[in-house]
Amino acid sequence: MLKRKTDNSSSMLMFNTIFLGIGAGLVILAWFAQISEINFNSILEPENWSKSDRLLAATLAVLLAGLFHSLVIIYPNHVHNQKERRLAAEKANRLETMAMNDGLTGISNRAYFDAALVAYFEEFDKTGAAFGLFLMDLDNFKSINDTFGHSAGDMVLKKVAEQISILAREYDVIARVGGEEFAILAPYATGADLKSIGERYRKRIENMELNWEGKSLPITISVGIASNQKTDTANQIYLTADKRLYEAKDQGRNLVVS
Ligand code: GH3
Ligand code: MG
Ligand code: MG
Repeated sequence: MLKRKTDNSSSMLMFNTIFLGIGAGLVILAWFAQISEINFNSILEPENWSKSDRLLAATLAVLLAGLFHSLVIIYPNHVHNQKERRLAAEKANRLETMAMNDGLTGISNRAYFDAALVAYFEEFDKTGAAFGLFLMDLDNFKSINDTFGHSAGDMVLKKVAEQISILAREYDVIARVGGEEFAILAPYATGADLKSIGERYRKRIENMELNWEGKSLPITISVGIASNQKTDTANQIYLTADKRLYEAKDQGRNLVVS
């Protein structure tokens, strides 16, 4: 379990500033009251100090101690704590990004997509608005790895993710949900739109013209589409899209089934 370190340096700094301010004000007042009577020769003879001299000296000593405490202990501690807090926040951000993003392509991962799908499903269910789910799987991708090597396969995956990102609209959620499988959640896309959006992605990937060591790589995708309309759960939408993706594979690949 994480142990929370208490940091009261900000309040201590504020307390000391107020304390020093009031103290300094009192010293100045006392000094003005005394200034006419000060005998500079007696400053070095404490045994001859009057009561008010002693009080003034004691106040000054406490003030100097407070100033020393602020400058040497509290302030550096405060700066150090602020730096630690900033570093901890940066680390938390990095971990969050790592947990939600796919390392190879940089787009969201399956865990993020699943959570987004449930959230969108619940939100859109309230208003009855529609969204589409597109599942895309690269066709015969194993043969790309087998023929050109795993690095070529990785390059293809990055390029496909790049093209999908370019084509997606601002509010679409895109993710790499499996080895060579991508998913898009498109808010407010309905009926005939879904098929034409799917076709747009399919054509874009087919026309990518990728090369590896001088040889052209034939890349196509099959697409299965489902909608949140007439569906009871987020998982059912995913399963329907997956079923249609396999229909596209069965019907010969490089196809969109909605
Ligand atoms: P289909 O058209 O039926 O989808 O055939 P396929 O060859 O694309 O499908 P299959 O499931 O047989 O093979 C998928 C391949 O994707 C096998 C696996 O090695 C490869 N793959 C999965 N993840 C990665 C990855 O991160 N990098 C690379 N280079 N290949 C990957
Ligand atoms: Mg697959
Ligand atoms: Mg495949």
